[in-house]
Amino acid sequence: MPGTIDLHCHTTASDGVLSPAEVVKRAAEAGVSVLAITDHDTVDAVEAAAEAARGLALRIVPGVEISARIGDKEIHVLGHFFDPRDPALVAGLASFREKRRERAARMVEQLRAHGAPLDLEEVLDTDGSVGRPHLARLLVARGHARDFREAFDRWLGKGKPGWVERSMPAAHEAIALVRGAGGVASLAHPRLSKVEGDELVALARAGLSGLEVDHPHQDEDVRRTLRLAARSLGLEATAGSDFHGSEGSPGQESMDDEAFRRYEAGASSSA
Ligand code: AMP
Ligand code: FE
Ligand code: FE
Ligand code: ZN
Repeated sequence: MPGTIDLHCHTTASDGVLSPAEVVKRAAEAGVSVLAITDHDTVDAVEAAAEAARGLALRIVPGVEISARIGDKEIHVLGHFFDPRDPALVAGLASFREKRRERAARMVEQLRAHGAPLDLEEVLDTDGSVGRPHLARLLVARGHARDFREAFDRWLGKGKPGWVERSMPAAHEAIALVRGAGGVASLAHPRLSKVEGDELVALARAGLSGLEVDHPHQDEDVRRTLRLAARSLGLEATAGSDFHGSEGSPGQESMDDEAFRRYEAGASSSA
């Protein structure tokens, strides 16, 4: 009985709450047979996950989720099957993480000015990728928000008191970084990012290989529309749980086996 194929999940290397080994354990228990580790702007968890999966009937695919822009829109480019040691990729991701740290520091300043002080050292206390979820958890812990959702609604969402614009690579640059490292790229949660038809065409021209059709925050109607768009643009329909450790489960979305093989065949690295 083959397991599920999940191309999107997070660990403590970015904003997930479980370690790479814990995520692997959950995935194995849930019957996942292929799992891509796709942390925000880092590949640091890939090796630990592969190590933890050794001897299990679970294949770990090297992955990453790169925040990028198309026009004024923020989108997330998923990269898969690349060489995680590729020097240009490693250097690019390191610079994106540095920009995340600078942004987090500015957000802490603004939050302080608006009466929600946090300890900057605590915010920056990670070797991984700092993101707004880290700030959200601390805002809750310090009593500045009742829960995670309120932290975003009141403080961290776009236009809220803590909000700071972040500099990001252009989408075509993010795709080129992944492909240059021997991988293939797909667009994460297209509907969540409100990506439109003409933008999909531009992304396909820029070398995109897949569209994340199956994602927990996209309903059946949305999936049907995206599946048609993928077919007409020659993109594979990918699937991802976007598991962050507290809700849902690895493997709750699963990619079609044949589509997975075609998607992987587009990669030039032997990963
Ligand atoms: P950042 O990359 O620092 O801008 O943070 C974005 C991340 O925060 C996303 O990848 C989600 O994991 C999470 N996120 C964004 N908006 C929300 C929200 N409204 N509620 C909960 N999590 C969110
Ligand atoms: Fe996230
Ligand atoms: Fe995302
Ligand atoms: Zn994600």
